[in-house]
Amino acid sequence: MKRNRGKLFVISGPSGAGKGTLRRELFKAIPELVYSVSVTTRKPRFGEVDGVDYFFISQSEFARMRDSGELLEWAEVHGNLYGTPRKFVEKNLGEGKSVVLEIDVQGALQVKRTFPEAVLIFILPPSQEELSRRLHGRGTESEEELEVRLRNAQWELEKKDIYDYAVVNDDVKKASIELIEIVKKEIYGSGGEADVLPSARGSDEEDGDKDPLPSDDDSCKKSEDDR
Ligand code: ADP
Ligand code: 5GP
Repeated sequence: MKRNRGKLFVISGPSGAGKGTLRRELFKAIPELVYSVSVTTRKPRFGEVDGVDYFFISQSEFARMRDSGELLEWAEVHGNLYGTPRKFVEKNLGEGKSVVLEIDVQGALQVKRTFPEAVLIFILPPSQEELSRRLHGRGTESEEELEVRLRNAQWELEKKDIYDYAVVNDDVKKASIELIEIVKKEIYGSGGEADVLPSARGSDEEDGDKDPLPSDDDSCKKSEDDR
């Protein structure tokens, strides 16, 4: 019997918006999800574990993986290189498992070209001031690195309309419920459980006809719109 392929989820958003925080809540609620650990040339932060948070690799190893086609997508983000190992994602999707990528906007665009059916979710901070407060509060970057991340946030926020869903992370509990319901609905269908949710996506049939990369004025609905 042919096995259904798993769903591919992409979570993006500016640095400090709370992607990691919400993703951890998502995995607690739906442990059968599979997280795709990226490779990066960034130095590990205090407490980050190689193979869990990222595979921390050298520039030359990154170049080798990129040039031999081992990366599904890759991008330079905030001055470091990041990429998604292709084999792991394809293997798990082929086994019917749903896979979550936490990657930047440039990577999300590349994924959408390869997997038009991927579900793109954007995490928004409630305001620029709060984003800055959170990044400072996390204390993992130097003042210079923080500036780069805050500057890039502006560009990333402008791209949110290419995403299928947007979740505003004002309150962790509320935002994680919203994220969990989006993922459940996409995997299991819209049974009555998704009552926090708008019907944010069109039917699969509609999706098949749609340009995978809709322009800013396309009818990509956001969960925040329906609040
Ligand atoms: P990202 O993965 O998007 O860079 P993090 O998940 O690391 O962001 O969150 C950035 C900082 O903000 C962390 O210190 C985290 O604990 C904090 N944070 C996340 N969500 C919220 C929230 N809703 N309210 C207040 N602080 C938050
Ligand atoms: P951080 O350094 O804060 O862990 O991540 C910085 C940015 O890189 C975040 O936007 C994160 O989502 C993005 N990122 C992490 N892994 C990947 C990846 O594999 N590919 C791409 N394109 N971006 C990634």
